[in-house]
Amino acid sequence: MNNDERLAEVTARFPFVACDYARALADASDAFRLQMEPDVRELEDEEEFGPDPFDEEGEAGGCFGLKQRFPDRVLIMTSNACFMNCRHCTRKGLLQHAEVVRSDEELAACAAYVQEHPLVRDVLLSGGDPLVLPDDEVMRFVRAFADLPQIDVVRLCTRAPCVNPARVTREIAARLAVGGKVWVNTQFNHADEVTPEAAAACVNLVNAGIPVSCQTVLLAGVNDSADAMLDLFRALQRARVRPYYVFQCDPVAGIAHFRVPLERAIEIERECAARIGGLGLPRFVADVPGASRKIPIAELSC
Ligand code: SF4
Repeated sequence: MNNDERLAEVTARFPFVACDYARALADASDAFRLQMEPDVRELEDEEEFGPDPFDEEGEAGGCFGLKQRFPDRVLIMTSNACFMNCRHCTRKGLLQHAEVVRSDEELAACAAYVQEHPLVRDVLLSGGDPLVLPDDEVMRFVRAFADLPQIDVVRLCTRAPCVNPARVTREIAARLAVGGKVWVNTQFNHADEVTPEAAAACVNLVNAGIPVSCQTVLLAGVNDSADAMLDLFRALQRARVRPYYVFQCDPVAGIAHFRVPLERAIEIERECAARIGGLGLPRFVADVPGASRKIPIAELSC
């Protein structure tokens, strides 16, 4: 296969998708462009890794469109679309044929599942990106779970503040804030992404009373230095976003070229810890198949 044929094979497996804002940001930032542009190296690790290390299509299922890996949390697949298909996405092999909750009956079944599992107190609205849905649809998902007395937190997992900040309007922020249960988890991977528009989107959420946290992915060539990470953490704090986790890339097919060696990741974490206060320092962790919690990367080196 020549290069064009290999790229066609890459996008047949995980299509190129990017909204206008993301394309413009990629023109201005190499660190962001690497997360958006298909790369022939996505074909190189398929024998080493599979598409579903966390068995989301198997035992991790609960009912249609609901995944449960931990006793106190469930994840709801609200969509299989995103404003940008991140080339490092953990679910890149699953999204196109994911079970997505659409009908009222499917959503009611998920709420019933939660009620049958009283240890569940935290619901992740994920996908895909829930904010690709219209506001009323987003609120249908939020209310289905926020109205349950056992639920303390409804986590909206969205990269919209980074890749399409205009979507995070004051109106949707005000609606999400009603009831005080919604938290937003977003993803920024480089300080270049914290543009004035992105910071304004985050501030819209915070000003409405919604806690906003960032889950960064450690990506080779994008943010694999302490300087790059610290620039990001400081930019996030200026936008009033809590740096929450830095994840090692998951062992998923198609993203091996983004993986940073564990020893290097630990070095970056140590240098960051020496140079920023605790409020600006996220936990560096890995999601390990079969583990009952996120594992701090320092433990993995033992
Ligand atoms: S926004 Fe999230 S779910 Fe969508 S492609 Fe990016 S990492 Fe994957």
